[in-house]
Amino acid sequence: MTEPIITRFAPSPTGFLHIGGARTALFNWLYARGRGGKMLLRIEDTDRERSTQQAIDAIIDGLKWLGIAWDGDVIHQFARADRHREAVEQMLAQGKAYRCFATPQELEEMREKARREGRTRLYDGRWRDRDRSEAPAGVKPAIRLKAPLTGETVVDDKVQGRVTWQNENLDDLVLLRSDGNPTYMLAVVVDDHDMNVTHIIRGDDHLNNAARQTQIYNALGWAVPAMAHIPLIHGPDGSKLSKRHGALGVDAYRALGYLPVALRNYLVRLGWSHGDQEVFSTQEMIAHFDLPQIGRSPARFDFAKLESVNGHYMRASSSEDMLAALEQALPHIAGGEALKARLTPALRSKLLTAMPALKERAKTLIELLDSTRFLWAERPLIIEEKAKALLTPEARKLLAALIVKFEASADWNAGSAETAVRVLAEESGVKLGALAQPLRAALTGRVTSPGIFEVLELLGREESLSRIKDAV
Ligand code: GLU
Repeated sequence: MTEPIITRFAPSPTGFLHIGGARTALFNWLYARGRGGKMLLRIEDTDRERSTQQAIDAIIDGLKWLGIAWDGDVIHQFARADRHREAVEQMLAQGKAYRCFATPQELEEMREKARREGRTRLYDGRWRDRDRSEAPAGVKPAIRLKAPLTGETVVDDKVQGRVTWQNENLDDLVLLRSDGNPTYMLAVVVDDHDMNVTHIIRGDDHLNNAARQTQIYNALGWAVPAMAHIPLIHGPDGSKLSKRHGALGVDAYRALGYLPVALRNYLVRLGWSHGDQEVFSTQEMIAHFDLPQIGRSPARFDFAKLESVNGHYMRASSSEDMLAALEQALPHIAGGEALKARLTPALRSKLLTAMPALKERAKTLIELLDSTRFLWAERPLIIEEKAKALLTPEARKLLAALIVKFEASADWNAGSAETAVRVLAEESGVKLGALAQPLRAALTGRVTSPGIFEVLELLGREESLSRIKDAV
């Protein structure tokens, strides 16, 4: 029996779940799900000053919104500090770690010296082999790893390939600070081991940590999990991802009106490919995702592509699903509250009727919301500039004549409205568009909308006539 695959997502709760973190979580989730394994969630909250509950909530909320479900309980790293110290005791007992009584001032001098001599190994190892009895009075020791002085540390990375560090360049890491607090580097190793993590998939900004962590694994006599360090996401111009480029929290993408399923699909293609396939169902992603197809150069974030993927999902969704997605998004998107406050069963059914036409045109839920406005806006309508230009004196005359026709007609539906409009256009010797376009402007305040006869039916006789009268 092969061991079950266990991955983990290990965010530091010092900010929101940003787009790179979301992609890391997604990759870990897909890798585990595709292999009958588990993805665990570990909150790396050892930095007490920078970790906040608000950030933890945002990370969990963001993962849930994206539909990335972890297995089991959330693990909090800080709560495991005793276990981290226990691992250090083991290393001390086995001579794999030692107490270092160097004072801050001594350390500063060592750093200065190393810098002058151009060495990356900062600590000079002065307490490696010294006896505790020589310790200066009143100095609390830090515990350092007794790292190998010669040879190499190698990481066979699933994405980066074989990466080698010369041990002479690597420091004797601090494992426990003099105040007894475990360092981050130690905590990650002990936690990954105890959580039976088999695959560490994370950003390549952690590649150097991988070497240091490998040394800790070796000192503890533990097997090193497989590692995959994925290139970070860059901006469209190849530079480091900035806010302007899309380095936003996942909550910002929700506020921009993207569907979680579309963002997920966009993210999976950010650095990973499967032939030239662009659109993946969840099942397909899970089936195809693997580490060798992750590229070694940074993926570029492209808002236009995200928008086009989102538009694809909006068109492909059923009207019912789209309405549900819109309703869910209302508390999060600009202007959403206004619709939320008016959402009666009657309006819901109008939205559903108009949805096939509306979802065709919208690329985001914000655009979709905007396109529904004519259905629930209160009179007098705000008429946009382009629409105003259609309401010429001649057009107004035609609309006035149309009111008479509509008032004379007994029925009110798309078919009867169409007949009335066509008859009037013919009688007046104008093309259908010369009447339909100003009519659209009067009814919706816009130059685009679903079919105008459908709009008349949706709005109903009274509201339609009132809007036309407002325009005339
Ligand atoms: N907590 C680290 C971060 O948020 C990730 C550590 C890891 O994945 O090993 O960047």
